[in-house]
Amino acid sequence: MFNIFKTTKRKNTPSIQNNIIEKNIPEEHIKYLAEELDTINKKHYDRLPKLIAFLFKYNNYHVEIIDGYTDNGIDIIASNNLEKIAIQVKQHSIITNYLKINRDDMSKFCLAVKDQGFTKNYYITTHYFTKQAKILANKHNVQPIDRQELFKFINQLCPELLPKVQYRQSITNLQTNCPECQHPAIRLKGPYGIYYECLNCNNTFNLKDN
Ligand SMILES: [Zn+2]
Repeated sequence: MFNIFKTTKRKNTPSIQNNIIEKNIPEEHIKYLAEELDTINKKHYDRLPKLIAFLFKYNNYHVEIIDGYTDNGIDIIASNNLEKIAIQVKQHSIITNYLKINRDDMSKFCLAVKDQGFTKNYYITTHYFTKQAKILANKHNVQPIDRQELFKFINQLCPELLPKVQYRQSITNLQTNCPECQHPAIRLKGPYGIYYECLNCNNTFNLKDN
């Protein structure tokens, strides 16, 4: 019999797929990745650590955030029954910061995780690593995740997030933001003229009184 397809054919069950309850993804992570990766104010230095912590929580890891993001030690520990992962996070703008993560930065993290029993070590940045930093990381079982790798990493841990980021980027050209939630709003025409509708909270408003 040549009817191979019949036996290997997958059941199409999109309705069941759609029934999987989508876990909530906080808007701040979407906004950060879509719009604020390089422009974010210094006081929001914790955005990348919060995003990384979220990604591991999303995958049911127990997540511990270590205070003091500015030091060169461990920022986040993510663990489950099988793994205990040490993470260093460096949120650096590639527009205003002219230094890659170098060998010295990397050596501090390598020292911090040495002999601590971690199954994996990640050094994550929105910037890039020098070649020497990558060589050192390799020697010490540290996985360097730079700007480019960061998006693959996010996609592995939370595939639902990046389509939301792309959608958000697609509406950044809308010049008007909702006064309630700051999300972009679309300009519409109604019986009483032009008005705006927030694409997030559906608030409608017009501009003349502001
Ligand atoms: Zn709104």
